[in-house]
Amino acid sequence: MATEPEASRSKSKQAQCAGTRKDGTRCTARVMGAGSFCYAHDPARAAERDAARRKGGANSATAARAEKLVPAVLRPVLITLLQTLQGAKAGTIEPRRATAIGSVARAIVAVYQVGTLEERLQALEAAQAAQGGSAA
Ligand SMILES: [Zn+2]
Repeated sequence: MATEPEASRSKSKQAQCAGTRKDGTRCTARVMGAGSFCYAHDPARAAERDAARRKGGANSATAARAEKLVPAVLRPVLITLLQTLQGAKAGTIEPRRATAIGSVARAIVAVYQVGTLEERLQALEAAQAAQGGSAA
């Protein structure tokens, strides 16, 4: 009734992925979680990998570039607007609804602009005060 160190034994077994690479050699990636494959070779995650690949392809280069130019807080607004545009073009969103979404998006952007302008103004005032701008 010797208690085998079960945990450490299975740990060393799980260290290397059981998958085979495209060139036929054994995958040297480390196993993630309880399975015997790495993320790239786990058959249970094939659907997940496909979905990730499709999602990557669906993000057009233009949309991805536009997203980078927009501040993080406004990205959901941009994405909604792009989806609305697609829907309006395809006829799946009523024109009135698209217009309403556009108005709300404009309002959100306006609030954001006031916020950033206020922030920049305060920074300018602080810089001026630090330079002894009280003489003005
Ligand atoms: Zn692998």
